[in-house]
Amino acid sequence: MRLARGAPRGGQETMVTDGAVRERLLARRAELQARAQRVRADLQRQNEALSPDFAEQATQRENDDVLGAIELSAKEELEQISRAILRLDRGEYGYCTRCGAEIDAERLEAVPHAERCAACARAARR
Ligand SMILES: [Zn+2]
Repeated sequence: MRLARGAPRGGQETMVTDGAVRERLLARRAELQARAQRVRADLQRQNEALSPDFAEQATQRENDDVLGAIELSAKEELEQISRAILRLDRGEYGYCTRCGAEIDAERLEAVPHAERCAACARAARR
């Protein structure tokens, strides 16, 4: 008996995972956008309700800094995700943007928007 499966697509199996990766990236992007929006709303609320008490104001400003940092990291990740989606569109996804080597599947599993292979990422951190 023959299974009603499509013809094997030689070398095309990455297309299947591309769709899954894209979905993950889009979901993560939506999540980050929602978070950035919440943070922005928080910041706005705090600025509007700045306490007349100086000590209290200092605490609020510190909170603002923390929120600002969260927003910044969300923004950075959003940009990385946008670039990853772009690379998917171009068929360049999964390759190191620095040296062109294939990025570890494990690494992509953990960080779907990874732009560099582990070696290049390590080198950049130094
Ligand atoms: Zn590399």
